[in-house]
Amino acid sequence: MKIAVDGPSGAGKSTLSKDIAARLGFVYIDTGAMYRAAALACLRAGINIKEHPEKAVETVRRSAIDLTAEADGQHIFLNGEDVTGLIRTPEISMGASDVSAIPEVRLCLVELQRALAETRNVIMDGRDIGTYVLPDAPVKIFLTATPETRAHRRFLELQERGTSCDYETVLADLKQRDKNDSTRAFAPLKAAEDSILVDTSALSYEESLTKLLSIIKERL
Ligand code: C5P
Repeated sequence: MKIAVDGPSGAGKSTLSKDIAARLGFVYIDTGAMYRAAALACLRAGINIKEHPEKAVETVRRSAIDLTAEADGQHIFLNGEDVTGLIRTPEISMGASDVSAIPEVRLCLVELQRALAETRNVIMDGRDIGTYVLPDAPVKIFLTATPETRAHRRFLELQERGTSCDYETVLADLKQRDKNDSTRAFAPLKAAEDSILVDTSALSYEESLTKLLSIIKERL
């Protein structure tokens, strides 16, 4: 059983998907974390991803990126090191957006994502899950919200983590990432034709969760 959840940053995909996975006994797979780990590998290697995409491809191919499901959620490993706590910075967000525009990097990570979904019930979130990674998923949800709502949520999240930031920068970064993600040539962010669109701008978290659970129950 596969559930695909796509949408722009800050629409609530990961928090909602995690909760739904716990309720339904599915494995939650956050594909964004894989692109973030790939970006971390490139940054650590001192690579300017935009100027040297070929070096980024080489680095990602040489890196072992693994996911595990733990009691406290998904953990992501880069060459055996648990980097879960290191990949949520604004710098890595932008690096992930850059590295994810490289087709060879996507092919590498998509292969891993499909393999993870093959043998278990998964709810997978990302940008191209319904359109490209799991086109046969019986449930596809496209989650969205206005850029301002999403930036506000991201801003609060960063503040809670103690990352210093200001709202205007968070909003500008998010708009830039939206643009990168939806205009890249290969597997861009877009709603699959058979996906159900859910706008969470005016919904509370509980309302969003109830809505998604009822869509999933109906479809499964
Ligand atoms: O979801 P998250 O914000 O953690 O993803 C980080 C970046 O990784 C996104 O901005 C996007 O560029 C990229 N990404 C992608 N395809 C996915 C998941 C994430 O291109 N399936």
